[in-house]
Amino acid sequence: MSIESGLPAGFNPNAYDAIIVGAGFAGAVCARRLAEAVNYKVCVLERRDHIAGNAYDYYDEAGILVHKYGPHIYHTTDDRVDTFLSRFTDWTPYQHKVLANVHGTLMPVPFNHASLKLAFGDEEGERLYQKLVGTFGQDKKVPIMELRKKNDPDLERVADYVYENVFLHYTMKQWGKTPDQIDPAVMGRVPVFVGNDDRYFPQAPHQGMPAESYTKLFERMLGHDLIDVFLDVDARDVFDITDTKLSVCGKSYGGEVIYTGALDELFDFDLGALPYRTVDMVFETLDEDQFQPVGTVNYTVSENFTRITEFKNMTGQVVPGKTTIMREYSRTYLPGVGETPYYVINEPENLELYRRYRDRVAGLLNFHVVGRLAEYRYYDMDGVTASALDLSDELISQH
Ligand code: FAD
Ligand code: UDP
Repeated sequence: MSIESGLPAGFNPNAYDAIIVGAGFAGAVCARRLAEAVNYKVCVLERRDHIAGNAYDYYDEAGILVHKYGPHIYHTTDDRVDTFLSRFTDWTPYQHKVLANVHGTLMPVPFNHASLKLAFGDEEGERLYQKLVGTFGQDKKVPIMELRKKNDPDLERVADYVYENVFLHYTMKQWGKTPDQIDPAVMGRVPVFVGNDDRYFPQAPHQGMPAESYTKLFERMLGHDLIDVFLDVDARDVFDITDTKLSVCGKSYGGEVIYTGALDELFDFDLGALPYRTVDMVFETLDEDQFQPVGTVNYTVSENFTRITEFKNMTGQVVPGKTTIMREYSRTYLPGVGETPYYVINEPENLELYRRYRDRVAGLLNFHVVGRLAEYRYYDMDGVTASALDLSDELISQH
């Protein structure tokens, strides 16, 4: 592999069997699979000055490994994804735990047995818990929007408490909307848990942090003789797209193109901008060993940020006397001014606009889209990896 900044003079796109835009999970997985399975010579164009996409991590000035674009916890139920990614890293065992700060009391999220007792007191919490067990069964996940539909005074009391103290304000901060105004699948990511498990991803048999770093994982995944990575190159500056033809650096290109960026941006938003939320991430290094008891604390009723992550609590890194935390401030993404679109907004009219952009590239048979931005989907890393494995399998089978 080579990694260079910028394209060399006389760059010839036709020296490559595939050109991949983006060096995140979507792009890097495809690059590796195509290089390895069918000996494709692959060019990866990445406009940032680093690989690893939004999973990029680095050591800050205090020597603490931090995630530049928000806390990333690897978790998956997909054996195929785990087998593939585990070729490029060992995993440090880590089970993510989140606490909600509710008026100063820290209670587990997903809201569980212990949270009920913290919210309602031991005796009443236990009584309500038994009611939940009787209604839904032990160790069951219940989306808050489902719990709210139950017509029973005790369950209504629990639902009202959780809705008000865990979901409403956090969701308003994160999305600018109330929980019933957004896609139920988004709220369903964090159900109420009728049980004692206090892990954020209890369902995931594979969970952890890369033993060294995400960036190292990517260095290894992209570390193949047939892969060249060019950083600081924006595909929009070198691509020229018509309905049926794609040129790169002024030369007609017939190899495979895999695009992992936002589609509206590629077309200068000419059908309108796809709505996203973005997040301002504010880092702070403190002169103390530990700031909070777990990886992430969600501020579900107070503050104007959504959550604080303390990286040492996730990576297990030991740095005496120093710790780095990060606050996340969510807001509307402004298109076209260089901001990072982080969260798709899963609403019918946005998906319809997305479909119209997809139609724009339908006639380009060698142009493939994959990834969180390009597919306009609320994907975790494992979902993106699975989608990239599917796409590369398809291209490999057509070879
Ligand atoms: P990206 O990582 O965004 O990569 C796309 C790359 O393409 C970027 O590097 C971009 O610079 C590049 N690019 C775009 N357009 C162009 C262009 N025109 N020219 C050149 N390059 C271009 N997932 C989990 O599994 N666990 C978590 O804990 C988790 N936490 C998250 C926290 C936050 C705050 C966010 C926003 C996401 C989180 N995710 C998490 C999701 C995870 O980040 C994504 O699923 C994954 O990184 C998406 O990979 P990707 O390759 O599709 O996109
Ligand atoms: N959510 C909430 N309170 C919480 C945790 C989550 O209201 O304490 C809601 C919120 O709307 C959030 C969604 O559930 O956007 C999904 O949460 P998740 O932690 O999966 O979001 P991500 O880590 O992807 O930002």
